[in-house]
Amino acid sequence: MTIPKEVQTIIEKLNRAGFEAFAVGGCVRDLLLERMPADWDVATSAKPEEIQKLFPKNFYANEFGTVTVLCEGEIKEVEVTTYRVDAQYSDKRHPDEVKYTTSLKEDLARRDFTINAMALSLTSDRVNREFGADIVKIEDLVVIDPFGGIKDLDAKVIRAVGKAAERFDEDALRLLRAVRLAAKLGFTIEEKTQAALVKQAADIAAVSKERIRDELVKIVMSDKPESGFNWLQQTGLLVRILPELEEGVGKEQNKHHKYTVFEHSIKSLQYAAQYGYSLEVRLAALLHDIGKPRTRRIKGNDFTFYAHDVVGTRMAENVLKRLRFSNEIVKKVSHLVRHHMFYYDVGKVTEAGARRLLRRVGKENFDDLIKLRIAERKGSGVPKAEPYRLRHLQFLVEKAAQEPITVGELAIGGNDLIKEGGFKPSPRLGGVLNALLAEVLDDPAKNKREYLLQRASELKDKDTQELKALGEAAKELEEKKREELIKRKYRV
Ligand code: ATP
Ligand code: MG
Repeated sequence: MTIPKEVQTIIEKLNRAGFEAFAVGGCVRDLLLERMPADWDVATSAKPEEIQKLFPKNFYANEFGTVTVLCEGEIKEVEVTTYRVDAQYSDKRHPDEVKYTTSLKEDLARRDFTINAMALSLTSDRVNREFGADIVKIEDLVVIDPFGGIKDLDAKVIRAVGKAAERFDEDALRLLRAVRLAAKLGFTIEEKTQAALVKQAADIAAVSKERIRDELVKIVMSDKPESGFNWLQQTGLLVRILPELEEGVGKEQNKHHKYTVFEHSIKSLQYAAQYGYSLEVRLAALLHDIGKPRTRRIKGNDFTFYAHDVVGTRMAENVLKRLRFSNEIVKKVSHLVRHHMFYYDVGKVTEAGARRLLRRVGKENFDDLIKLRIAERKGSGVPKAEPYRLRHLQFLVEKAAQEPITVGELAIGGNDLIKEGGFKPSPRLGGVLNALLAEVLDDPAKNKREYLLQRASELKDKDTQELKALGEAAKELEEKKREELIKRKYRV
């Protein structure tokens, strides 16, 4: 691996104009680990105006003096930042002011962890003179490493630059960055850094919900989210940012489970990551049993978790909203949590049952619900869901997906009933359509115009209660009422 040419071009242009410029930070770390860097950063002795003058046509600048240079090629943009030292932090998050410096070493010293505090040079002649003792050559790469980053990369440890306690005190986001990096890279956290992290975990309250969310997403999307959440728990960060998940720590389950609620949640997430599932499915795997601790009751010598899916849905919604996830994600994940208990058993689930399930869950969510089930079964440690049973259900559902499962897919609509069936526009019309849909869900062959018109005329004079009972709507209403009662009982 090497520095991509877009980044090289920028560095060379700055050098030709007489400025120092290096690739720095996370991209150097990732390059040395032979991982694909998420983004490329260049640090330079040039001031923001000087950078802008060199790239007059393609940049935008932010209020902190970072200039983003746009490129054409694989790399779309590179952040070019003037060497700086962060002067004083009074709110545990933002430096009170940014001071430029002419020293690369000072710029590296303000960075959080040793593995993030290295720079990469394109040439060795000049840097040899200036950085002599701090230079490490790895194949063709010239690395400037004043704080022992390479040694820590080899030892796979996250270590603060300088005194950990001070560094966390300056900026509490680093608490979470430490855990996130450990999870992403499969590293451990060095002893003193870890001790400071544990001691200062409560400071995470100073960090905005959006930044916490971004770091959590990175943990969830990493290869090792289980270890990430174990770190969060052990350091005392979890109880501050996701107390609902902490409630599951040490909570034993019933005889079908080997793990506590917390262990099961993060193992389910781990499998979801292993199978490459989406952010939504991973979040659902993490949160699907979030309602269990509050609904756990003793029955005989076992536990029950009655209604944990309903309670958990509301809790998942609250958690995700609090962490400022988008409405789409909140909706999707809580919907998956709501339906994660769906029942299936070869030989017991009929085709009509599969159609009803598909109707409740929605065609667009079904694949994700199956994925959630796979991750969740694997994460229980006693997998009883053999894949063939899930495949059987998928087969049924695929078949069902070809058939009508919503009123809109019926062979007749409200207009037909008004024009040809002598109905008036009224809520009753919806009741009749729902009753017709219930029949079609049982037997898709009945989805024919003539048959439905005839059935509609038979249903025309049924009283409202009876119609309701005939339609899916009635069941759904009952379900809603039940949910309301449960939510009131658990005050969620
Ligand atoms: P990612 O792989 O997610 O990009 P990263 O470590 O590169 O991880 P960035 O947010 O891209 O993270 O930041 C780039 C570099 O800036 C870091 O490697 C680090 O040197 C420095 N940095 C970022 N955030 C902080 C912080 N809160 N405190 C100190 N240094 C930071
Ligand atoms: Mg980065």
